[in-house]
Amino acid sequence: MNINWPKVLLSWYDGNKRDLPWRESKNPYHIWVSEVMSQQTRIEAMRPYYETWMRLFPSIKDLAEASEDDVVKAWQGLGYYSRARNLRLGAQEILAKQGGQIPTDRKTLESIQGIGPYTAGAILSIAYNLPEVAVDGNVLRVYARLYDCHEDVLKAKGKKLITSKVEETLPSARPGDFNQALMDFGTAICIPKAPRCHLCPLQKDCLAYEKGTMNDLPIRTKKKAIPITVVITLLIEQNGYYLLHKRPDKGLLRSMWEFPSVYIDDYDIVKVAREGESAIKDKKLSIGQTSSGLSKRAFSARLKLIRNEGFDGKQSLVAEEASLYGKSSKREDKKYIKGEPLLLAQHLAYKQLQETCKVMGLELLDFINEEKRLRHVFSHREWQMHVYTVKSRWRDGTAIENILSKQQKGPFSLAIENPIKGAKEVDANLDIGKNEWRWVAPKDFASLPWAGPHGKLTILCNK
Ligand code: SF4
Repeated sequence: MNINWPKVLLSWYDGNKRDLPWRESKNPYHIWVSEVMSQQTRIEAMRPYYETWMRLFPSIKDLAEASEDDVVKAWQGLGYYSRARNLRLGAQEILAKQGGQIPTDRKTLESIQGIGPYTAGAILSIAYNLPEVAVDGNVLRVYARLYDCHEDVLKAKGKKLITSKVEETLPSARPGDFNQALMDFGTAICIPKAPRCHLCPLQKDCLAYEKGTMNDLPIRTKKKAIPITVVITLLIEQNGYYLLHKRPDKGLLRSMWEFPSVYIDDYDIVKVAREGESAIKDKKLSIGQTSSGLSKRAFSARLKLIRNEGFDGKQSLVAEEASLYGKSSKREDKKYIKGEPLLLAQHLAYKQLQETCKVMGLELLDFINEEKRLRHVFSHREWQMHVYTVKSRWRDGTAIENILSKQQKGPFSLAIENPIKGAKEVDANLDIGKNEWRWVAPKDFASLPWAGPHGKLTILCNK
């Protein structure tokens, strides 16, 4: 292989580099933010976020002194919110321990919250022109092809092998440009599927091209299927205000706002289903399950169970809906949990939210419409959201004004029975003393940090 290929790549970069706002200077803070933002996000999609971010938090000091809510709000829509929180924590650490200066050695840099080997390498090479590699998925792919490497790039051995190749080939005079050249080259030419070899300046040097293996590389272990949570979300409106809930201050999307929801993971659905009729005991309740896949007997037995538990006479509506999902032949629809498990999820969610609302003096009357279905995939879990509008009324004629004035003073106190677990217990997330629930008008929605996909539901609310 021609050892001069890095020079060829650099001259390609000189003629083709992308014009990006964070490339206008060598400011390490700009590079840090841009690298964190562009992880798992396309450059075109993150660019406006980057520009807003820099307007809101133009320096490390501004970011360190900003509230978590403001930082998370500026990140809203990019997903993986821990990245935003870590940026803020990292900025606080740099301000407190490094006098606001981003360190210039890898060890100290990697000790800062949220900065891993890739980000450290990018900051050191691009901002300080230090000979440090920045190996991400792009670089693994490009090198695996250039060197026809058949090691699994997601395993330590493959990563180590490629990292040592990158170290070996990194041009000491222009390490930052070389790392950026790899980023641009991997985005424009040596793309994940169907690499554009006909346009490639490295074609002559590429071993995978020579052997015809470029479409088989890189080798990656198949990811395990991630678990699914069925999320039943209710849009509850009273006099132009919507009931919202603040998520707990720990865990996924912590302290962010959502519409009242019940989260039921596959384990709960299967468990509850098995506690029911023996007829469905042995059925596998999984993705792709259709109502027609259940025996007629099982299906009607389940409906009977629901009828007995009480579903306010609306079981037929839900059953109809469940069977509709079961029949859908659309490819996207097939990815949803449907049929029987969905029916159960709806039922359980309704019961749970009904109990919760009762404590607030609100009576839920009926599901009206399924307004939206949407799938949201996190790195470790998928949410399948079913969003309903719900009719409600105050049980004792409470006026919304009274509720709003209470809201000014303090929180609602809630203790609910959790029907999923079948035991009377106080939901830890609804502790007395926490301001967890609020009625909010749509005009004020923009001031809240929304919990991931819940933000997308705000357009369903009457403005
Ligand atoms: S020849 Fe094809 S596979 Fe090889 S580096 Fe170029 S684009 Fe990638």
